[in-house]
This record gives sequence, structure tokens and C-alpha cells, in this order.
Amino acid sequence: MSLFSVRMRSSREEQGTPVHISGAERIVAETDLERVAATFVQRAMQHKNGTPDFVNLSIERVCPEEIMSLEALPIQTCDVEDVEEGHRAAHHLLCEAGVSSESANFAIALLKAGPAPGGRVMRGAVLLDAEQPIRMEPDPHRGVRVSKLDWEPSVLESWCNGIGHLGIARPRVWEAIAIASKVTAQPEVIAELCWSDDQSYITGYVASQQFGYVRVTHLKPLGSLIGGRVFFIRAGTDIQSLISRLEKQPALVDRLPTRPYIEL
Ligand code: AMP
Repeated sequence: MSLFSVRMRSSREEQGTPVHISGAERIVAETDLERVAATFVQRAMQHKNGTPDFVNLSIERVCPEEIMSLEALPIQTCDVEDVEEGHRAAHHLLCEAGVSSESANFAIALLKAGPAPGGRVMRGAVLLDAEQPIRMEPDPHRGVRVSKLDWEPSVLESWCNGIGHLGIARPRVWEAIAIASKVTAQPEVIAELCWSDDQSYITGYVASQQFGYVRVTHLKPLGSLIGGRVFFIRAGTDIQSLISRLEKQPALVDRLPTRPYIEL
């Protein structure tokens, strides 16, 4: 069976600069291509953060032998009262995972202010040195976009059935788990911090192999259009090699977590 990576990104020009609105990535069978491409166009055109003036849809054949097998990170929720408590919880989780306090604080401030120049959102993620707060991604407008990834359909179905009672078996959550599982499977990455740029979604997460995917219920104020992702990387990382794997190596989440959650 032929498999294809399908990717979408959309943007709108503001004062001469293209500003990211939305993006999506899947790996699907040839028989599913048209349907998925149509849902991506719909997703681009109906995004809550605005109508794009540019949509890029790309379809690329994936070689099955090159697919990296991923175990889904276990999931749990850290309930917090407000954004300040959420940021303290995220800082604590990042430091426990091995990120320095300076880098954790820098990342939180960066996502609060908007990680792209001019306080805008990026299309991809910031790469941050986990010891010293130094940005390592070559282009701070674009960032590093994790692509060519998806769930194996039967594993996704089992995952949804397994956590159905929690009410969080939604695309937003499973797509983020796929990203976090691919990112934290890279030996150079210690942890990831994310909150959405979708104005109606205030729950973010900290992901690491140590603690899994930890949802933090308030990481930004309702109505804010600013969000992003930060990948914390070990000092001395070969940046080009890491970026090439994150962007180009196909990966499928084809195993459920061996532990449902990890004690925080
Ligand atoms: P979202 O959770 O989709 O609202 O995305 C929040 C932010 O994370 C976006 O503004 C991007 O900066 C970043 N982002 C989204 N998808 C990816 C991805 N596949 N790889 C890297 N960064 C991403």
C-alpha cells in the first residue's frame, strides 16, 4: 500500500510579512488522499484566527521502510487555577526534566510575548539550549516544523477508546501527542513546552520522556492569539541533523504507552 505525507500551511500577509495562521500534517493511504486534502483546505479556510491569503498543500510519497516507530507518550493533567500557577507548574516540570531555570523562564516569557520577531507567532518551534537561554533555530520567523507524522489508525482508535472517559480524545490532543512523541523520542531533546495560538484554547503542555505528556490547564489567557512551541535541546547538539529528522523523517505512533501515566 502506498503512503503519502500530506501537509498544509496557511498564512496572511500583515505589513509585508506573512503571518502564520494554521498548519497540519498527516500520513495517509493513497485511497484517503482526496478526503484528507479536502479537510485540510477546509481547516485552512475556516480557522478561528482568521482567513488566509496563502494556503500551501503538499503531498509527497513516503517510503514505508523509512518510517520511524513511535510509542505514544502517556498523558496526564495538571490542574491549575490560573495562568501564573500554570507557568509555575510548567517551570517546575521543565526543571525536573533537566532544563535549567533560566532556559525554562526564557521560554515561558518568549511564548508569552510571541516567539517570532515583532511578537508574532511562528510556523514552527523554537529550538532552545536547555542549559543557557540561547535560541538555536536558523530562522526565528519560521522555526522548525515537525512534519511527516501521524498515528497508525488502529492504535489511535484504541487510544481514543482507552481515554474516552476523560473527554479529551480530540484531534487537537492526539495531534499534539504525535508531535510530542516524535520530538521527545529524539535523543537531543530534553523536553517540549507548548501552548496554542488558538484564542479559545488555554490548555498547554510540557512533554518529556521522563514525565510523558502533561497537560497544564491554564497556560495563557482566553482570547490571546499568541502561542508557540519550544524544544529544549542538549548543549552540543548537531542542529542540522536534528532539524532534518524532525522535518523529514516519517514517523507513526504505532504503540500505546507502556505505562498509562508517570508519577509526577
Ligand atoms: P497549535 O497547537 O496548533 O495552536 O500550535 C501552536 C504553535 O505551535 C504554532 O503557532 C506553531 O508555532 C507551533 N507548531 C504547530 N504545529 C507545529 C509542528 N508540527 N511543528 C513545530 N511547531 C508547531
